[in-house]
Amino acid sequence: MSFSARKPRHKTHAVKVGSVTMGGDAPVVVQSMTNTDTADVDATVRQIAELYEAGSEIVRMTVDRPEAAAAVPRIREKLLAQGLDVPLVGDFHYIGHVLLRDHPACAEALDKYRINPGNVGFGEKQDRNFSMMIETALRHDKPVRIGVNWGSLDQALLTRLMDENARSQAPKDVREVMHEAMVVSALQSAQRAEELGMAPEKIVISAKVSEVQDLIAVYRMLAQRCSYALHLGLTEAGMGDAGVIASTAGLAVLLQEGIGDTIRVSLTPEPGQPRTREVHVAQQILQALGLRAFTPSIIACPGCGRTTSTRFQELARDIAAFVREKTPEWRRRYPGFEQLQLAVMGCIVNGPGESKHADIGISLPGTGETPAAPVFIDGRKVTTLRGEDLAGQFRTIIEEYVAERWGQKDGG
Ligand code: SF4
Repeated sequence: MSFSARKPRHKTHAVKVGSVTMGGDAPVVVQSMTNTDTADVDATVRQIAELYEAGSEIVRMTVDRPEAAAAVPRIREKLLAQGLDVPLVGDFHYIGHVLLRDHPACAEALDKYRINPGNVGFGEKQDRNFSMMIETALRHDKPVRIGVNWGSLDQALLTRLMDENARSQAPKDVREVMHEAMVVSALQSAQRAEELGMAPEKIVISAKVSEVQDLIAVYRMLAQRCSYALHLGLTEAGMGDAGVIASTAGLAVLLQEGIGDTIRVSLTPEPGQPRTREVHVAQQILQALGLRAFTPSIIACPGCGRTTSTRFQELARDIAAFVREKTPEWRRRYPGFEQLQLAVMGCIVNGPGESKHADIGISLPGTGETPAAPVFIDGRKVTTLRGEDLAGQFRTIIEEYVAERWGQKDGG
């Protein structure tokens, strides 16, 4: 009997973004965003290709001025010339209606437009500008993401809700009113888009905040009140471990409740750190929850006083780096490889046991043990590695196993 504590997936409309489907019964989609100047075609193409190769299934870029809008079709062409049919999203703020109107090739080259209803204008202009963007999307048959953001919330709407709350018999907490304003802003805009002729299968909603508890509260409300596909993510998760942990904490709770059709982890890269880290973190969140498998899983013991040298830590790190480096190639050549389970264990206490449960496991010698590392494949001990280059020998074993198990067999 299988048991899962995960709630069934919240039912949403399936939305096609280029070649990718999000929502409905589709798996939760990983997406990311570039941080290059979009007008710099070569740098943007390079980064989109890196993000896509790392596993980002959709890539968004800012389209902030005419030069950026003019660059979009060239970016698309260059990616296609490299054989990369990446679903591309344009992120529009303030003048998106003008850019989309004046650059029809940009409107056509993109697979989705992100519209922030909090910064498309005020009063009558807000509706006119928002309508212009929706009409462009309809003309080009593109979906939109209506992306409300805590930092650029529709101030007129917020003021109205605050006033109503102040006059009510039982006023709510200010934070609750802000949550309500986020949700109402997103849903009213989606409803307006539908009035203009957009099908619900063309609408994705997001309501991004920077605090985990706000994120959970807002998305629970959205899931209760609508069936639009939902894009999850903290808007400014932060740097380093703090960003990874905040994103994981917020997204895991919602995904476990069946909420969310696509995720983005918004990390501030540390100097020198690759942009692709946000893709790997998003994948790891989905994989840890058992929602999707992207790369082989590596079980490594935490190490303890029985592993006095750093050899075990270095091997675990080397194998993780090797698997990450090989993943794009294995994805192309060995369908199904992501089911591979590896175990890298520090000593004889749990080493052989865990190694036997994995497809391939290695148990390093602990303090006082014979300097030899038994390797187990499919539960059986097949060899014992010795010498300085344990990592190199173990990498060869992994590579041969993957090719043998998931390589295309000759039809004969
Ligand atoms: S397997 Fe060995 S080294 Fe690893 S945590 Fe357990 S006792 Fe320590």
